[in-house]
Amino acid sequence: MIILKSEEELLLMREAGRLVSEAHALVEQHLRPGITTKELDELVASLLKKKHAQSIFLGYHGFPAHICTAINEEVVHGIPGKRRLSNGDIIGIDIGVRLNGYCGDYAVTYPVGEISSQVKELLEVTEEALYKGIKKTVIGNRLSDISHAIQSYVEGRGYSVVRDYVGHGLGQKMHEDPPVPHFGPPGRGPRLKEGMVLAIEPMVNAGDFRVKVKRDNWTVVTSDRSLSAQFEHTVAITRKGPWILTAL
Ligand code: MG
Repeated sequence: MIILKSEEELLLMREAGRLVSEAHALVEQHLRPGITTKELDELVASLLKKKHAQSIFLGYHGFPAHICTAINEEVVHGIPGKRRLSNGDIIGIDIGVRLNGYCGDYAVTYPVGEISSQVKELLEVTEEALYKGIKKTVIGNRLSDISHAIQSYVEGRGYSVVRDYVGHGLGQKMHEDPPVPHFGPPGRGPRLKEGMVLAIEPMVNAGDFRVKVKRDNWTVVTSDRSLSAQFEHTVAITRKGPWILTAL
């Protein structure tokens, strides 16, 4: 069941979204070769504590950290730890918070130090794919119009879209209906209505779309070990068009 949000609820979700974007700004300030993913996790944990907010990932099916990190061939759901970032790495950072009962979910893939122009292109295509999807997040469209816009753009640029993990509705819970695939034909699924809130989060691989889960039971990697990037925003559907709740 898709839960539509009132204007009051959207304002609360905007506050949660603003906090997630503040957390990203903090991470970005500290991101450099030599820092560990655990240190990034601690930065976010202390900000959330100060703001009386909670990580929606911590404890989720036993997930042991406040943020998810994904370095290079890692796709999503990596656990922060002792690994130090190196010059030329890319790192996906996914931050989800609950503030005053409502969730915000926002992911960015950052370059660490200097990255090659080839890798830069992967990041640009992935971020642009997210915006191609957001453009379709308007009243009257069907859900899979978002999916199709993302897949056709990504594949047109010579990259692939991960199938095994998809976006989602969100509100008081991190995962609500509907699931939001980033691939598929247009014109399918529910009609988009005012008050729907979706987390759109394409994962784009430089090689094949297939992925697998590592032995820690969390970290998803590309099957062919090619690089992977992800960008995500929480987006509300309004009469004025898509409202990116997680923008700064
Ligand atoms: Mg999400």
